[in-house]
Formats: sequence, C-alpha cells, structure tokens
Amino acid sequence: MTRSSSLIAPQPLASERMPLGVTPDSAACWEVDLSAMRALVDRVAAGGDWTGWVAALLHGARIIDVNARGLELVGSPVARDSMIGQPVASFCPPESWAILAELIVAVASDRPDHAVQSRGINSFMFRNAVLTVWGAPGDARPDIVWVAVDGEMADDRSFWSVRASEQRYRRLIHHLPGALLQVDARPMGAAFYQLRSEGVTDIRAYLDAHPDLVDHACQVVRVTDANGGAAALFGVAGVADLVGPVEYIFALAPDTARRVTTAHFEGRRSVVELMKLKTFDGRVIDAELTVTFPTPPESLDITLLTIEDVTERLRTEAELRQLQADYARASRIVTLGELASSIAHEVNQPLAAIAMNADTSLRWLSREEPNLDKVRQLNARIAESARHASDIVQRIRGMASRHLPEPVPVDFNAVIEQAMLFICHEVEARAIRLSVTLDIGVPRVLGDRVQLQQVIVNLLVNALQAVAPRGFGEGRIALATGKAPDGAVFFTIHDNGPGIAEADLPRIFDGFFTTKPDGMGIGLELCQSIIAAHGGTISASNAAEGGAVFRISIPPVEA
Ligand code: ADP
Repeated sequence: MTRSSSLIAPQPLASERMPLGVTPDSAACWEVDLSAMRALVDRVAAGGDWTGWVAALLHGARIIDVNARGLELVGSPVARDSMIGQPVASFCPPESWAILAELIVAVASDRPDHAVQSRGINSFMFRNAVLTVWGAPGDARPDIVWVAVDGEMADDRSFWSVRASEQRYRRLIHHLPGALLQVDARPMGAAFYQLRSEGVTDIRAYLDAHPDLVDHACQVVRVTDANGGAAALFGVAGVADLVGPVEYIFALAPDTARRVTTAHFEGRRSVVELMKLKTFDGRVIDAELTVTFPTPPESLDITLLTIEDVTERLRTEAELRQLQADYARASRIVTLGELASSIAHEVNQPLAAIAMNADTSLRWLSREEPNLDKVRQLNARIAESARHASDIVQRIRGMASRHLPEPVPVDFNAVIEQAMLFICHEVEARAIRLSVTLDIGVPRVLGDRVQLQQVIVNLLVNALQAVAPRGFGEGRIALATGKAPDGAVFFTIHDNGPGIAEADLPRIFDGFFTTKPDGMGIGLELCQSIIAAHGGTISASNAAEGGAVFRISIPPVEA
C-alpha cells in the first residue's frame, strides 16, 4: 500500500476530522469511499429503496483508511493491508448493517453539509456503543465518509478476534473425530417449569403415569448443530441431515430417552448411557451417549451430546470374556482329569449301594410271601442313592460346563464345602488330616459360584500334591474362613508340604510357571485372575512352622 496513512497512530488527522463527541483515542475510525455506490445512495435517498440495498451498499463501499484503534479491534496493526480496499460489510457485524447503511445514506446525500449522524448500537466490544458517520464539509470529497464506533470497552478482545476464535473452535469441533451434537432442550425446560408449578416433584412417578411426555420430549427437543464426526457416525452426507427432533437418536432406546428426560428434570449436570442406535444407512450400533446439560448462567440453549461408537469395543470385550471363560473351563477340565479316580470312586459309591439294595429287594420279592414293606424301604434307599449319584454328576458337569460368569451373592463357606466334595476321596484314601474352620458369620461375596469353586479346588489340589510325597508323618491341610478387620471375607489354606522356594515366590502366579514334572502351571494364574475379577486379592507365603499358605480376600457383597 503506497497510500500514506492519515488515520493510524499517532492519528495526526484523526482529531481534526472527528466531529465533537467522538473521542479520538478510543474511537475506531474508518475512511470509506462511496464513489462506486453514488447512484445507489442517491436512489435510496430519493426514497427508492429495495430489499437488499443495505447489503449492496456496504459491499460496494470500500475502506480506504483506518486508525490504530480500528486496527486493534480487528486484530493487529498488520491487519491494515488486508483491510484497505475491502468492503465495509466485511468489517461490520451484520446486526449493525442497517443502521450503518442508513447513516451513510443520510450523510452522503446531505451535500454540501454532510452533517454528523450518530446512533446507538448494540455491540459487545463497547458498552453504550455509538456509531457516528460524517463527511468532509463542502463538496471537496463528496464520496468520502468517515465511520467511527465509540463507547466504553466491554471486553479487551475485539469483535473480530472473538469471531475468529469462535470460528476456530467451530472448525476444531467440526473436525474432532468424535460425534458431537448441539441440542436445544429449552422446550422441555418450559414444560418442566409448568409441571413444577402444578406441584410435580417426582418425575419418575409422573413418567410412569404419563409415558407420552418422553415421546413429546423426543419431538420438541431438537438438534440444532452437529459436527462431521456425528454425520459420519449416523451415516449421512452432511450435518444438515441431523438437524431436527432428537427422536432419531433414541429410536431404539426409549428407556435411555426416559432417563435423559428424568435427569433433565432433576437438574443433573450430565448423563452417560450405553445404548443401541440405528444409523440412517441402516446399521445398528452400540453407542455411549453423554448428555451435558447447561447450568445457569451458561446459555441455556446448548445441551451437548457426544456419541461414541463402542460396537467394536464391546465386541472385543465380549470375545475376551469368552476367551477367559474358555481358558478357565479348559483348566477345570484338566483339574477334573487329575481328580478322575477320586470322581470315579465317588460316583461308584451310590451306584454300589443301588446295586446292593436292588439285589436285596429282589430277594425279598422272590420269597413265597414277598415282604412288600421291606421292598418299599429298599426302593426308597435306591431312589435316594440314585439322586445322590445324579447330584455328583451334576456337580462335575457344572465344573466342566461352558459358562460365562454371572455374579450373584455367594455364601463363601458353601463354595468351600462344595469344593471339598471333589477331593474328599483323595483325602480319605491318603489319610490326610483335613481341618476346616468355617466362620459362619462371614458375609456373602458377589461372585460366580463355579469360578470361586474352581479357585478353591485348584488350591486344594495343589495342597494335596504338596503333602503327597511326604513319605513321613501325616499330611495336614487346614482351611479357614473369616472376616478381616477391613470387612473383607478371607480364606486361608495351609498345608504341611515343603512350602515354596523363596526364589519361586514372586513367580508362582505367572502363567505356565510350574515345578511339577507333569504340571501345566496355569492353576494359580487362573486363581489370581478370577479373584481379581471379584475385586479381591490372593497371596502366597511360607508359614513359620513350614508349608505353604495361600490367602484370599474378597470384599463383601454389601460393599
Ligand atoms: P501346577 O500345579 O500345574 O504346577 P499351579 O499354577 O497351580 O500349576 O502352581 C504353580 C506352582 O506353584 C507349582 O508348580 C508349585 O511350584 C507352586 N505351588 C502351588 N501350590 C503349592 C503348595 N501348596 N505348596 C508348594 N508349592 C506350591
């Protein structure tokens, strides 16, 4: 720009050009060339305006100079080159266009006086902002006007820097990878206000009686804006396709819509929900929805929704759970294999009783005068033994079954009693002294019965194997349950085997760590992962008097 500046700092000409009432150092001032718009100005001045003249005038009126304050409000002094030669419209907020255009026409058509024209405008740069337009006296420069905005600073930042920053954030949000929707939930605010004034305080009870309120909410609450991530998630071509009632978001999740409505009524700040969502291109996805309601004094028209497609994550988690369940099952089957002779013996007992009682009852029947009372008695015993055998088979099938863990309140003592049934034959056959001290007062834990049983059976089998090769003295295993001072339920198992080598202690819970010739080394690792999944801990140590001690601790269900 070769033209010399007449208005920028130190504003040599500014004060003499500024009319009374415009403070030279606080006013932002532009010199504007109207020559291309002369015909339009004259036509409007003569009363011949038409829709669109305001925009036409301000786009045709060019800025030819600007003072320092004007530059400051636009951004920085380097903005000068990009401002000179530009239409006035580009640097005036649209809400002030009409006033500015009217003032320009009034001044430019009032030749030769070019009387000063001023009007108050709304501006967030200035409090009590005043827009002033004036021209050079006489007919020297008939197509030049000066425009000034003055007032008390409302904000250090200029309109344009605020606008630029807003646009930066808009762009940022638009390009964010996540899906973001802006929602206007105010119509429900009004409906809730009405309900409250009618005395409604319990929205849940109200929704039970008036379920249509949720449908109504899905109609009147509207998406007003969204970003590219949301368009991609919903499978639409552009953001505009998402603008409208929120009902499409909740089409497959009426319960979520109800909970969001409830949260809004109750004045909660946000809601997070996992939900099913149907996209516009026909996919059904698992989504995590976060709704953030505005709280005063924030602008109340913006409720923010973020939606994350978690389909893949949920699928992977389900696969992982399945894999862990399969692994645990494989290990249970290995354990059952190890206990095969014990199990065979256990099943054999009721079967032998059945055979014996059946023989006896046949004998009673083949007498000349059959003793039907005896036969009845024996048959009752046969039935009981058959039930017993069936219970054993059930229990084994339970251990071998494919199953995904389902947490329920579990009596830990009962789990231990059940687990002991698997090894009782071993214990008897090897004359091992098993002492069991169960604290009947222990609280229940939240867990999966089969998995917890698997942990105890694993620890029992390890203890049996540890005491087996003693070759001297009596093998002893002591089990106990109790309640720890922190309220946790604990279980200990102490054997009088050789204990665990100090060097092995840090490794025994590692997968595939074994010191046994035919060991697999997966038992303790599984125990640890099962107990961790129950929110508990398992530890191993050596007792002072010898032998290994394993201790499990699990928080009670009440916690
Ligand atoms: P595995 O029994 O197939 O070896 P585990 O994971 O159950 O697999 O056990 C890992 C290792 O921990 C065992 O090989 C053994 O060295 C040690 N261990 C487990 N329980 C005991 C115990 N009661 N006494 C001594 N060592 C034990």
